[in-house]
Amino acid sequence: MSRAFRIIVLALTTALLISMPLASPAVVTVDPGAKVSAGKTIIGTGQNLPTLDSTQAWDIGSEAKDQVIAYYTDGAVARDRRDLVSSAKSWTRTWLKETCGSLKPAAVKACDAAAVFDIDDTLFSSYSVSSTNSPAFTYDPERSMVAETTCELPIIKTTRNLLKDFQRWGMNIFLITGRSETERKETIKCLNAAGISGWKQLTMRQTGDKTPASSYKANARKGIEATGVEIGPSIGDQVSDMSFGYLGRGFLMPNLMYFIP
Ligand SMILES: [Mg+2]
Repeated sequence: MSRAFRIIVLALTTALLISMPLASPAVVTVDPGAKVSAGKTIIGTGQNLPTLDSTQAWDIGSEAKDQVIAYYTDGAVARDRRDLVSSAKSWTRTWLKETCGSLKPAAVKACDAAAVFDIDDTLFSSYSVSSTNSPAFTYDPERSMVAETTCELPIIKTTRNLLKDFQRWGMNIFLITGRSETERKETIKCLNAAGISGWKQLTMRQTGDKTPASSYKANARKGIEATGVEIGPSIGDQVSDMSFGYLGRGFLMPNLMYFIP
């Protein structure tokens, strides 16, 4: 091969490579609002997650079944939950000192400091149901409804203990869930059975409310703060549990199974 020919081949190859589009994930701008939540880095499946401006709820499906099962059963999810709870506690201590001037429960009570918790896959785990749906990791609304209302979903002790620690510290607890008002009685029964009580308010969706979770939950927090309460941490398994402000900081529990906008 002559030198000139080699140069031409090299130039053509380079031009071809440059003109090929590089595979890259979609990058979207997320606007979590004025009081941006800067919680823990999102733990997810990278490019397999939908874009954060998706308007559709999304299940991972059975394609990544083995990896998701491994994550939930080999200790990884427990480690990530412990990490997250530890970050939430440490941030909240600092926030309480700044907000209430003291960590004494009387001072914390007096300054109306609050924490918000989501329920599903934050306090109760849907893994046992989701992983055994057919196909795995798809949504079966009827089965989910039965599991939710018969207390079949196991409590996530790490988060439950965080909630109880916050209560001991003198904080008010607000629960904001995507579950419907029609499930109120059973939800309270299951929370109580899991050792959770004494919350200030449980916000549930009105029948027929189709507002995206991010707006519905931000509106609920706005209503809470309008009563003079100051929300510090918001704990949830979805970015929509901590979008659009009215919180001090969002703490995102791991959930590799589905996405709710
Ligand atoms: Mg949830």
